[in-house]
Amino acid sequence: MSSLLLQIKESYPMVYEAFSALPDGERHLRGIMELDRYWEHLHQPVPEVVKPGSELPEGVEVNGDFDLIYAGGTLSLLHAAVMARQYDRKVLVFDRHTPAQSTRDWNISRGELLKLADTGVFSLSELESVILRAYKTGWVEFYKPDGSQKRLYIRNVLDCAVDADLLLSMAREVVLSMPENRVLSQTSFTACYRFADHIVVEVTDSEGKSYHYRGKVLVDMMGVRSPVAMQLNEGAPQTHVCPTVGTIASGFMDADFDTGEILASIAPADIASGTGKQFIWEGFPAKGSEYITYLFFYDEVDSQNDKSLLGLFETYFRTLPEYKKIGPDFSIHRPVYGIIPAYFHDGFSRTREIADDRIILFGDAASLGSPLTFCGFGSLVRNLHHLTADLDLALDSNALSKKDLEKISAYEPNVASMANLMKYMCFNAETDEPNFVNDLMNEVMVVLDELPERYRQAMFRDEMKIEELVVVMLRVAWRYPKVLKATWDKLGVAGSTGFLKNLVGWVFSSAR
Ligand SMILES: Cc1cc2nc3c(=O)[nH]c(=O)nc-3n(C[C@H](O)[C@H](O)[C@H](O)COP(=O)(O)OP(=O)(O)OC[C@H]3O[C@@H](n4cnc5c(N)ncnc54)[C@H](O)[C@@H]3O)c2cc1C
Repeated sequence: MSSLLLQIKESYPMVYEAFSALPDGERHLRGIMELDRYWEHLHQPVPEVVKPGSELPEGVEVNGDFDLIYAGGTLSLLHAAVMARQYDRKVLVFDRHTPAQSTRDWNISRGELLKLADTGVFSLSELESVILRAYKTGWVEFYKPDGSQKRLYIRNVLDCAVDADLLLSMAREVVLSMPENRVLSQTSFTACYRFADHIVVEVTDSEGKSYHYRGKVLVDMMGVRSPVAMQLNEGAPQTHVCPTVGTIASGFMDADFDTGEILASIAPADIASGTGKQFIWEGFPAKGSEYITYLFFYDEVDSQNDKSLLGLFETYFRTLPEYKKIGPDFSIHRPVYGIIPAYFHDGFSRTREIADDRIILFGDAASLGSPLTFCGFGSLVRNLHHLTADLDLALDSNALSKKDLEKISAYEPNVASMANLMKYMCFNAETDEPNFVNDLMNEVMVVLDELPERYRQAMFRDEMKIEELVVVMLRVAWRYPKVLKATWDKLGVAGSTGFLKNLVGWVFSSAR
C-alpha cells in the first residue's frame, strides 16, 4: 500500500477505501492534493514568474524557437492544432503531466461540438467518434421538502458525453503531424523572461533539469492554478469557485441511460461547518454501462468553508447512495475532479487581467467561462474561431503588446452577467434559510417551464439575450419577492451595482 494513500486512511476513510481499489488511485490522489494546494497559495506572497529579459541568466542555451509556446496541455491542444494546421504556426505545447490526459470528461450539445469542424482541423466523422453517448433529454430539479419541486426538462443541452482524452489526443496528433512542432510531457513551467521582440520560457523536466525555449508569444493555459494568472491578477485570479468531484462508474441500479441529470439537488444546504454549502449532483450516462456522477457546490473564494477536493470526495462517497442506488456489481473506473473557476467583473466590461506584453491567457487560466453550466470547454469551443484567427493576425502585424493581446479574449458580456446568478447559489447560513438556494432555483425552473423552450436552452447554453434574462428575472421576482431581499443580503451594494454595470455593458455590447 502506498504511503500517500496511507496518509489519508484515518482522515478520509472512504476516499482511502475507494482509491485503494483503483490501479492508479495513488496517481489520482496526488493530482487531487496538487489541486488542493490552490487554497494554500491564495493568501501567500505572489511568486514572480513573469520577469524582465534582463534577469535571464547570461549564457543560457535556447533549446528551440517557436511562434507560440503553450504552457499546459489540455484545452491548449485544440487551440494549438488550429494555429499549426490552419495558420502554419510553429508551436510548442508542454505539460507538467501528460498532455491530452484530462482529469474530467465533458458534456456539450452535438451542435456546439460539431462547430469544431469549421476550424478545418477535425472532420465531422472524427467529431462524431468522440461522442460516447447522446441522450434523448435532460432535466434540472431543486429539492423541496414537500416534494413540490418542478422537474424542468431540457432538450439539446449538454446532451452528448465527450471522450475528452480522445478529442485531445486527436488534436495532439494534428500538432505533431508537422515535424517542426513539439509536445512535451513531464515538463513544468517555472518562469518567463520578456524581451522587446520575443519571450523566453523556462521549464524543468521531471528530474529538475532546466530548458529554455524562445517564442513570439507565451499562451498560458495552465488552468485554475496558473502562476502567470496569479501574478497578473495580484494574487486574486478568481472571485468564486465551484469545487467538483465525481466518478465514472458502473453498477448503479437506478441510472437512466437515456436522460442527463443536468442539475439535481436532493437536500437543503449542509450547515454543519463554515458558512454552509448547497450541494448539487449531476448524473450523465457515458459509454456502455458507465455512468458519470458529480457532486459540487458554488462558493466565494474567501468563504470559511472547507473547499478542498479531498474533503468533497469524502462527502461524495458518503452521500452517493442518497443520490443513486448502488448495486452489488458497483465499480469505479476513474475519478474526475477539478476546481471550476469564476470571476466577477466589477465593471461595464472585462476587469480581469488576461494578457500582458507577449503573454495571453486562455481556458481556465483566463477564467472567463460561466461555472453555472460547466462551460470552460464549451466556452473555448464557442470562441475558438476568433481566438485563433485574431491571434494569427496579431502575429502577422507584430501587435503583441498587452493592449493588443487583451482584445483577443473569450469574454462574453452575456456570460459575465449570467455568472452573477451564481452568487445566489453560494449558500450563506448567516443570511439564508437552509432551503433558500433550492427555493429560489425552483422558482426559476417554474418560470422557465412557463416560457417557450428556447429560454431554458439559451440559459443553459450561455446564449441568453438580455431581453430574455430580464423577462426571467422579472417573473422570478413577481413569483418570489424574497429574491429582492436576498439580492441585498447576498450581493450587497457593491455586488448589486456590479451586476447592474455588467448588464449595462451587455446592453451596449455587440453581443446582444
Ligand atoms: C469534473 C468536471 C467536469 C467538467 N465538465 C465540463 C463539461 O461538461 N463541459 C464543459 O464545457 N466544461 C466542463 N468542465 C470545465 C472544463 O473541464 C475546464 O474548463 C477545462 O478543463 C479547462 O481546460 P484548461 O486547459 O484551461 O485547464 P485544465 O484542464 O486545468 O488544464 C491545465 C493543464 O495545465 C497543466 N499545468 C498546470 N500547471 C502547470 C505548470 N506549472 N507547468 C506545466 N503544466 C502545468 C496541468 O497539468 C493541466 O494539464 C468540467 C470541469 C470539471 C472539474
